[in-house]
Amino acid sequence: MTTTAAFHPYQLSASEISKLVRSGEVKLSDLAEFYLDRTRSIAPRLNSHIYFDANSVESQISVLGERVKAGEDLPMAGVPVLVKDNICTRDMPTTCASRMLKNFRPTYDAFVVERLRKAGAIIFGKTNLDEFAMGSSNENSSFGPVYNPWDLTRVPGGSSGGSAAAVAADLAPVALGSDTGGSIRQPAAFCGVYGLKPTYGAVSRYGLISYASSLDQIGTFARSVIDTAMVYDVIASHDPRDSTSRRGSSPELINSLAHLKSGLKGLRIGIVTELFGSGLDESVNSSIRDAVRVFQSMGAEIHDVSVPSLRHSVSSYYLIATAEASANLARYDGIRFGHRTTEQVNQLKEVYKYSRQEGFGREVKQRIMLGTFALSSGYYDAYYGKATQMRRQIARDFNLAFERVDVLLSPVAPTTAFKIGEKIDDPLTMYLGDICTLGVNLAGLPAMSVPCGYDHQNLPIGMQLIGRPLSEKELLTTALAYENEVGSSLKRQPAL
Ligand code: GLN
Repeated sequence: MTTTAAFHPYQLSASEISKLVRSGEVKLSDLAEFYLDRTRSIAPRLNSHIYFDANSVESQISVLGERVKAGEDLPMAGVPVLVKDNICTRDMPTTCASRMLKNFRPTYDAFVVERLRKAGAIIFGKTNLDEFAMGSSNENSSFGPVYNPWDLTRVPGGSSGGSAAAVAADLAPVALGSDTGGSIRQPAAFCGVYGLKPTYGAVSRYGLISYASSLDQIGTFARSVIDTAMVYDVIASHDPRDSTSRRGSSPELINSLAHLKSGLKGLRIGIVTELFGSGLDESVNSSIRDAVRVFQSMGAEIHDVSVPSLRHSVSSYYLIATAEASANLARYDGIRFGHRTTEQVNQLKEVYKYSRQEGFGREVKQRIMLGTFALSSGYYDAYYGKATQMRRQIARDFNLAFERVDVLLSPVAPTTAFKIGEKIDDPLTMYLGDICTLGVNLAGLPAMSVPCGYDHQNLPIGMQLIGRPLSEKELLTTALAYENEVGSSLKRQPAL
């Protein structure tokens, strides 16, 4: 393969890469060299990577080369994949962007990483995030913020900001993220790529470092619907090591999408009225309304649908997520797990105190305190108990909505990417920006961020498609029909 001016492997989709590698038309070493060079020159400007090592890539491709030669079934042969740094990798550090885990090297791969390696993917590096996935802007990382490739003065969204920025900048065709309250969908929208948050339980959380276990879910970033389906097919399968992992056969979405007939005749799409209220940018609103007209022109029926309890999703989520986080993060005590203070101390309690004080950043401490308070005996019913009741109500309201329509549609975020520093000292405003995404996690539903336009500053806009549990196929089919219709009008490559 030659990387002449006319041929750039980074413009190939994951599915094309895999085909070319398997047929021998592209040499693994050339492909890897190309992505290594690109990563060396661009990743530092975005601060998208926490870990990246050319030697590791080279040793992976030499093993992979033998497997290709042996004719193994490798649906993702040679596809470079980036992994959010809260997902365990046995040969690379896994830091959660926290000083607490800066020396942590897992002894095992997360289930999803195992599956990707088995499918022939190359794990190209680990991406930056908000510390322990807590945040919406990637500004809470102990490795510093990630810069949005569309405008380097802006945030890429969070918490999976590194994965989103890297895919948008063509440093890999696909990446993994985790989504507890929007951490895949919102950065995907801010960076103009596709982001899929699967149904709770569809993808094993084994090896995902817990933030809020009843909400956490691993998912994908990609530049196309087909590539999204390819990665989802590989990672979505039952795993006995995660007790919430769903049973059932592998989805094989990529094959069903290949036979998609264009048009969406009879599909009922519900516009979630609560998520089009005040505070929504006019540019986001009008882009999504345009997308709705496209769906209509393809034969979909459009209905206004109400999910009334969504207005309580921010308060319920920030109680439940912080309560679970306070329990999950109790293990980092400087003895069993995490950074150990070097202060000279006399009591065990002081080891805990100083280790935690030094190891955790401000936002994480704030959330541990909030969560501990919400769970404390005198306030349990008033806060945590109420929030879990509201969570059930949100799930019921979604169920009712899905009696009337097949797919729900809303913005992913009320605005496009905001400036670095703009909201960091105002947590409430930051939390309120999550209004469109949190309900989906509280109800355990699958949802997807689909690029649908740009604002007047050329910043990407995303629409959110929400489905019934395990309706990933419908979501991807709907997204693909839209992509086929308007795809060519979407810009691919941000100027760097
Ligand atoms: N922004 C939300 C939070 O800070 C969601 C984060 C996530 O999905 N990991 O908790």
